[in-house]
Amino acid sequence: MTHISVIAMGGTIAMVPGSSGGVVPALTAADLLAAVPGLADVTITAQTLRSLPSPSLGFADLVALSQAVRAEIDAGAEGVVVTHGTDTIEETAIFLDLTVDSDTPVVVTGAMRHPASAGADGPANLYAAVRVAASEAARGLGALVVMSDEVHGARFVRKGHTSSTAAFVSPGFGPLGLVVEGEPRLRGTPRIPLHLPATDRVTELRVGLVTVALGDDGELLRRGGDAFDGIVLAGLGAGHVPATMVPTVADLAAKIPVVLASRTGSGPVLRQTYGYPGSERDLLDRGLLHAGFLDPAKARVLLLLLLADNADRDRITASFDYYR
Ligand code: ASP
Repeated sequence: MTHISVIAMGGTIAMVPGSSGGVVPALTAADLLAAVPGLADVTITAQTLRSLPSPSLGFADLVALSQAVRAEIDAGAEGVVVTHGTDTIEETAIFLDLTVDSDTPVVVTGAMRHPASAGADGPANLYAAVRVAASEAARGLGALVVMSDEVHGARFVRKGHTSSTAAFVSPGFGPLGLVVEGEPRLRGTPRIPLHLPATDRVTELRVGLVTVALGDDGELLRRGGDAFDGIVLAGLGAGHVPATMVPTVADLAAKIPVVLASRTGSGPVLRQTYGYPGSERDLLDRGLLHAGFLDPAKARVLLLLLLADNADRDRITASFDYYR
């Protein structure tokens, strides 16, 4: 029988009504599995690593998770499933994608409806995630997110809705496959050959994420920029900032890596179309680095892992180039 390891981190999938009136994490990995029928044909080991709402997870937790996933694979797991809150699932998925150097499937899943609600989606999502983790076709695709019977690649997936069970999308790319009648149908692209260590050094560094808005003169960066080892700018449109913000951004880019992403939610930052002050050409000429199609939150994870591995500017540029 295929051996699957399930690691629980908390999130809505594990929540029950608390004393405050709202739901809070409480269920263990074993509890979650007990609610899922149809898994008698796989051997499953379960551990509860964290019991947290995902907005309260930090990079120390992700380092511990990455090491736990690695340990399970080394101990013989043929697939690993991580149950997780959906708010930050996309950051955890790309972190695992970048730090777990293995062809063994690593699948992250969660729930949009908590277990006590009508039509709770957690058991179906966990079932589908185990099926994908046990699938030969999922090998070598990198970390995956399985929600609502859809299989998404870690580098593409985003939470695109606050409450819908169809919240997860891969804008511009689409899902890598579907789970149909319990069987994964995958047509995935192989993972990117970029491997970075998951060490506690990531907890010593700070990479900020700043969203640019109309009329922004860069005051936030001027006052706060020095507190960071790197910055990701979620720029306007194809990677733009107001002209008034350019001097601040250029100053900062001379001191620390500043990666240019887009706040639009889909599509890559351009390289050579616009020529006005604050355009993508202008900012790249002034030393900003290009995030490719990585969304701002994912670009922040990659930049942090690179800085924690002492990557220089050339290596940072080359790493983001995988996402052109
Ligand atoms: N706020 C919850 C969390 O991310 C939402 C979820 O689990 O779906 O932990």
